[in-house]
Amino acid sequence: HNGDERAALIPRYVRVNTVRGTLEEVLEVLRSRGYVLSDPLSSKKGFSQDKHVPNLLLLHPSTTFQDDPLYTSGKIILQDKASCFPALVLAPPAADDSVVIDATSAPGNKTSHLSALMNNQGKLYAFERDRKRFSTLKMMLAKAGCSNVSPINDDFLTVDPNAEQKAVIPAVTDKLMRLPFPFSLLDPSCSGSGIVNRLDHLLEADTEDNTSKEKEDDRLDKLAAFQLMMIRHAMKFPNVKKIVYSTCSIHATENERVVQNALQAEEATAGKFELARREDVLPTWPRRGYPEELLHSEDAASLVRCLPGEDATNGFFVSCFVRADAESEGDP
Ligand code: SAM
Repeated sequence: HNGDERAALIPRYVRVNTVRGTLEEVLEVLRSRGYVLSDPLSSKKGFSQDKHVPNLLLLHPSTTFQDDPLYTSGKIILQDKASCFPALVLAPPAADDSVVIDATSAPGNKTSHLSALMNNQGKLYAFERDRKRFSTLKMMLAKAGCSNVSPINDDFLTVDPNAEQKAVIPAVTDKLMRLPFPFSLLDPSCSGSGIVNRLDHLLEADTEDNTSKEKEDDRLDKLAAFQLMMIRHAMKFPNVKKIVYSTCSIHATENERVVQNALQAEEATAGKFELARREDVLPTWPRRGYPEELLHSEDAASLVRCLPGEDATNGFFVSCFVRADAESEGDP
């Protein structure tokens, strides 16, 4: 399949933004427009609910929502299924003392998903270093009604993990230091090689065009070095207990190999980070990491992959690091 053909096999995914409305409300609107529960790939008025992601609907690929009140009011968010996985795996609690860092936020699909999972409670610090993308992020968060998010136009790598957020967000520092379960989402710039033709995904991917093979390999190596740096930085935060790292790349260089290098980094050893167990990482999703790319092939079970053309999603990768002692500490 070429990109366009594969795109035609991917339903139009619509995530109901539960910050703004309920699944029932959106279903009601769709039904009133003549949509019926049936295969969304074969019928233009068919819709179904996703098996893995709560509040995610599947519609015909040709469905558009520009100027649609559901979309302009922020009640729905157009987000590929695979890109809903990271927030689900991070699974931050919906509680007033829940603290989450989204290190690489714009345009903000995963940020708003996290905010929804937190029931718009607690605090979500959303970093984005690029100025233009930061303004997109702010617009999108306002539209989605995510009032528990503090967007920060700064480079995550410049945040001192020990001073926690002191330098950039004065008001919250001490609180952050004392909270037991901060969560971190890392969805850094990647090659975007998993992205199948669709404009809303292009924006999310933060990609450039690059044609020559050597240039591409060189670029992947540079991206992988940067991605590893981001994970290692996140691991330095003393209170971080759970880190989800994801890409929309299909290359092992940016996925399994980055994870493997992170596991062997001194921050991981010092911080006792290991991969979360398979049962905590979308256990019902069948496609897992590539065992041959890992030091311990059994680690592949902890990793999630999506393949465009095979999974009715874009190409995607999700991993989750947890502290070895996090569970016992969390017990009352
Ligand atoms: N998570 C986003 C979403 O779901 O909508 C997509 C994130 S996109 C793949 C990566 C973003 O990270 C880009 O907007 C890029 O500007 C930003 N970024 C890259 N390095 C960063 C850094 N060191 N600190 C903060 N933001 C960074």
